[in-house]
Amino acid sequence: MARAEQQRTTDAARRPLDPAAIAELRAIFGPERTLTEEWDRAVYSYDASFKSVLQPGLPDVVVQPASTAEVAAAVRVAAKYRAPVVPRAGASAMTGGSVPHRGGITLDLRRMNRVLEVDLDNLQVLCEPGIIHKDLNERLLPHGFSFPVDPGSTGMATVGGMVANNACGMRAVRYGSTAHYVLGLEVVLASGEVIWTGSPGSRALQSASGLNLTGLFCGSEGTLGVITTLRLKILPKSPARGVVTALFDRLEDAGEGTRLVFRGGIVPSALELMDRAAIRAVNAYKAGLDLPDAEALLLIEIEGQPAGVREAAQTVAQTLGALSTRVQWADDPAEVAALWGARSVLGAAAGLIRPHSTRVATGEDIAVPIARMPETLRAIHAIAERWAIPCTTYGHIGSGNVHSAFVIDPRDQDEVERVLRASDEIHELALAMGGTVTGEHGVGSVRPQFMAREHGPALAAMQAVKAALDPLGIMNPGKLLPAEGSDGV
Ligand SMILES: Cc1cc2nc3c(=O)[nH]c(=O)nc-3n(C[C@H](O)[C@H](O)[C@H](O)COP(=O)(O)OP(=O)(O)OC[C@H]3O[C@@H](n4cnc5c(N)ncnc54)[C@H](O)[C@@H]3O)c2cc1C
Repeated sequence: MARAEQQRTTDAARRPLDPAAIAELRAIFGPERTLTEEWDRAVYSYDASFKSVLQPGLPDVVVQPASTAEVAAAVRVAAKYRAPVVPRAGASAMTGGSVPHRGGITLDLRRMNRVLEVDLDNLQVLCEPGIIHKDLNERLLPHGFSFPVDPGSTGMATVGGMVANNACGMRAVRYGSTAHYVLGLEVVLASGEVIWTGSPGSRALQSASGLNLTGLFCGSEGTLGVITTLRLKILPKSPARGVVTALFDRLEDAGEGTRLVFRGGIVPSALELMDRAAIRAVNAYKAGLDLPDAEALLLIEIEGQPAGVREAAQTVAQTLGALSTRVQWADDPAEVAALWGARSVLGAAAGLIRPHSTRVATGEDIAVPIARMPETLRAIHAIAERWAIPCTTYGHIGSGNVHSAFVIDPRDQDEVERVLRASDEIHELALAMGGTVTGEHGVGSVRPQFMAREHGPALAAMQAVKAALDPLGIMNPGKLLPAEGSDGV
């Protein structure tokens, strides 16, 4: 069977939901928050993945809980009827993670969006999972604080979805991933029981007590339980920042430049790559951005006290001087904001490199060791050329994460086939380089087939954890882990 045809095939494990389950849910949520009409459910059948374009997954019913007790009640109904239960938040994931390929009950968590407590003295905040990342930061910034993980989807992604996917973003190079900021979680388990990880009642910033269940739920993609409250670490915002812009006439030199920045003793707060196609896409997207044309561009951000920022920026500029065709730096807030404004439109702009086409999220998120970045960048371009698919390359190169944005006409069957094969090759490339098939977007239903190769015998340990916490296999089935004896959905 052709690759695209395989992707389109309906999941064989899908079973219709017992109408009695829907009646029980309606008794809990009322008719307003129990969605059964097909046009309502259709909204929940996709996310930002290309897989969900090829294979949308219609839930049998959608409920919209407003409290932990309601989530627990819905999960108990799912357990009683052995029905899949799929948490869904912003649906901005590029992995099909919230797409119910096997039907069942979708939990729309966006009503659970309250900030419950802002505790500046103890550097933490207590909130519900459905709050949008940007909204949380808008609550914190007037106090001079922020939740520093910074995904490009800040206006769409919820903090619950970020924890579930262990999201990263532009500032991971200095601040790490979402998991680094999760102090404790309230979770509804597959049985409907509610637990707190990270010592209930604790307001400590660190703990060495017990198994690290908090870490286990970070990146678990809804396969182990539903996160209903989060205790997150926050940090004061640095008073100053500056951005060094470095241009290169060879793509590999941008990879080499990344290595040199660290060798120069600098840990930037962001270190982003854009290739020529990415630069042109951004310039085409919005008049006035006017990024300089080059084979590759690095944006290197330094944060700290004003004098320290200037000194570090000069060190970076000197370090890259021999390799780069042009280096300049800015610490004027308006200029810095304009540069990040240009970078932030890239996700949307990428499709503009070819008329009447769409950027598709497939094979878009590998991470490799920094030392192997130059050859990885060249190999990605070679794959795109071999399959004759236009592609922009960009990403959080400072932490080894590269996004390859393929642009195709999705109505053209041949292009669909080619892009899927190219994305398989990108994943293979990541493993061959000693990297990982996903740096931040997660596995969802698009990468389970690579888990055995990437994790070896550790995969069986993951499957044992899943079986222990979800013995009925109802929590977001078919995601993250391949079923034993299969290569995934
Ligand atoms: C333009 C764009 C830019 C992006 N940039 C970045 C980036 O820079 N860095 C990055 O890491 N990602 C990025 N992403 C991907 C995406 O935004 C992240 O994966 C994000 O974490 C998803 O959050 P969400 O609320 O949309 O979750 P959803 O897509 O709704 O769900 C994601 C997964 O989490 C599970 N889930 C959601 N909520 C819960 C919960 N409360 N409990 C248990 N499981 C839950 C779902 O079942 C699903 O498996 C980008 C996406 C887009 C479209």
